[in-house]
Amino acid sequence: VVRVTDLHKSFGSNHVLRGIDLEVARGEVVCIIGPSGSGKSTLLRCVNLLEVPTGGTVVVGDHEMTDPDVDIDAARRTTGMVFQQFNLFAHLSVLKNLTIAQRRVLGRSQQDAERVARANLERVGLANRENAMPRQLSGGQQQRVAIARALSMDPTVMLFDEPTSSLDPELVGDVLDVMRGLAREGMTMLVVTHEIQFAREVADRVLFIDGGVIVEEGAPADVIGAPRQERTRTFLARVL
Ligand code: ATP
Ligand code: MG
Repeated sequence: VVRVTDLHKSFGSNHVLRGIDLEVARGEVVCIIGPSGSGKSTLLRCVNLLEVPTGGTVVVGDHEMTDPDVDIDAARRTTGMVFQQFNLFAHLSVLKNLTIAQRRVLGRSQQDAERVARANLERVGLANRENAMPRQLSGGQQQRVAIARALSMDPTVMLFDEPTSSLDPELVGDVLDVMRGLAREGMTMLVVTHEIQFAREVADRVLFIDGGVIVEEGAPADVIGAPRQERTRTFLARVL
C-alpha cells in the first residue's frame, strides 16, 4: 500500500533523509523508533507530502505522491495523520470536528458525514461525547477524537507521529488501546513512537532510524528483543 524508494530530504545543507526504502503492506503495522532528530517525523511528512522530498519516490495506494503531475489533494486524502498535538478545531463540537472535512473535502451529505462520524467515535470509545467541545475533554480524549477524525476520511494508511508524547502518563493507555484496536481491525499503520513496549507488542515490523537511514529493521522480537546493530543497542539501552 505504501512504497517509499530511495527517499531523500534536505533542509538547506542539512541532509536529513539519506535514502530510505520502505514498503508497508495492507493491514501491516510498522513502528518507527530512533533518536531525536534522526528524521522520523520528516519521513512521515514526506509520505503525505507535508514535506516535498528532495529525491526518490513515494507511492500510497494508487497515487504516486512524488509525480509532478499528481493531484495533491486527492493524493493526501489517502493518508490520515495524527500528530503529537491534537490540532482539533477548538471552536467546533466533537461531531463538527469529524464532519467538516467529510462535507467539504469528500462532499458527503450531512447525514452520511454524521453516520461515519458516529461510527468512528464509537470505535475510539467516545460515542457519548459528540456534543462536547474539545476543551471539555482530557488530552487523551482529544487525541482519540483526532484519530476518529482522521479515520472518518477513509484513509488507505494511518500515520501517527508520537501520538501519546504530549499526554499525561495516565492517559497514554487509552490512546494506545485505540491504536491496538485499529491494528486488530486490519488498519494499515505507520507509527512513530517512543512507546517501545507498544511497538514490541503491536508492530508487525519495527524500523530503527538513525542519521536519516534505516539502521535495522525486522520483527519486534528481533529489533527490540535482540538487536544486531550497536547503534540500536545503544538507543534501546537509553530508552528502555
Ligand atoms: P524527534 O524524535 O525529536 O521528533 P525526529 O526524528 O522526528 O525527532 P525530525 O523532526 O524529522 O526528527 O528532524 C530531523 C532533522 O530535520 C532535524 O535536524 C531538524 O532540525 C530538521 N528539520 C525538520 N523539519 C525541518 C524544517 N521544516 N526546516 C528545517 N529543518 C527541519
Ligand atoms: Mg519527530
